[in-house]
Amino acid sequence: MLIQLDQEIARLKGQMDYLLREARRNEDRMRRLDGIERQLIGADSLSELVRILLSEYRTAFAVEQATLTLVDRDHVLAKLLNENPQVPALPGFSPRLLPSPTSIVGLFPLAMTPWLGRYQHLQHAALFQSPVLGIESVALLPLVRHGELIGSLHLGSRNPDRYGVASGTEFLERFAGIVSVCLESALNRDRLRRISLTDGLTGVQNRRYFEQRCKIEVSQAKRQQSPLSCMFLDVDRFKLVNDTYGHPTGDDVLRSVACDIQNQLRAGDTVARYGGEEFVVTLPRTDQSGAIEIAERIRKGIEARTFQTQCGKTISVTISIGLTMLHSDQIQQDHEATASKLVAHADKALYHAKSNGRNRVEWITLSL
Ligand code: GH3
Ligand code: MG
Ligand code: MG
Repeated sequence: MLIQLDQEIARLKGQMDYLLREARRNEDRMRRLDGIERQLIGADSLSELVRILLSEYRTAFAVEQATLTLVDRDHVLAKLLNENPQVPALPGFSPRLLPSPTSIVGLFPLAMTPWLGRYQHLQHAALFQSPVLGIESVALLPLVRHGELIGSLHLGSRNPDRYGVASGTEFLERFAGIVSVCLESALNRDRLRRISLTDGLTGVQNRRYFEQRCKIEVSQAKRQQSPLSCMFLDVDRFKLVNDTYGHPTGDDVLRSVACDIQNQLRAGDTVARYGGEEFVVTLPRTDQSGAIEIAERIRKGIEARTFQTQCGKTISVTISIGLTMLHSDQIQQDHEATASKLVAHADKALYHAKSNGRNRVEWITLSL
């Protein structure tokens, strides 16, 4: 009788210890999850959110792989992820973008709830980064907003029992819900920021964006020990276009000129409408001869093209361009002041281009 009682006590004690261990494990898991969720809620942009999900989460929960797929119907996500100057995309930490959710809907046979189970190469290889060597179990989390699948988060573990068909999914379900809400709000914030930094008429960046960007370019030029060229462009006798053919034609010309400038630039260059019929461009890692070549291409392209006025007449315009360049060893501590001097010198060169006859490119050497 006593022996039986002792055995029962030992069994209950073992059970109690197990439950305590589980409770501590859950408490620790909730603490880590809380930390990640706080970071997600505080994320300032879509890029930052993606970084937290794919890097911080992976480390905090020791999963071998964490990857993300997002539905990008109108290619806005691609633009927003590329544009954020503060958070450069880390290699291997970019989400996969899909034009529609069709190819991920099938991952969630149980009405948009997480799917946990063994890794199956045929179904899962495309979701993870190759090589997927060693991944034994996976958790696939649907990201849903307003009843629509907006993406999926995939976690891959070397432990075959980590994500089992029988495991509870409340923890991951709650996490997927929070990720979805944070994604939507980061996206809305990025969209708003984008609107506030874009010129409404031409669609290129506005002056506010340029002023932020130019400071970043100066810091990067210093860090990379590379030259930074700056170009100021102004449409010649533009008032006459407006006065002769009307403002709507003037607006069409400005839109086309902005597009022509943009088309001559490389991915890392920035063009902004500085005001009225003036544009400004930064050309990172570009020296004097490179900058003159690009400026001449833009000038000749605009000179050669024709525009249709609102009353059906064909007209053409020309553009004057001022150029200058910053050597990395000229960059002073105050990057903002250096950036304004760079722009002021390009503007001064533009003034020379105007006074020397217009439809030309002028260069001045920058002296600080
Ligand atoms: P210059 O060769 O010396 O640059 O001569 P300009 O006529 O181009 O220069 P000016 O500064 O005298 O005139 C600029 C004109 O640009 C005046 C203004 O009506 C026009 N402008 C400014 N913003 C806009 C705009 O958004 N749309 C249109 N259609 N015109 C604009
Ligand atoms: Mg002008
Ligand atoms: Mg002007």
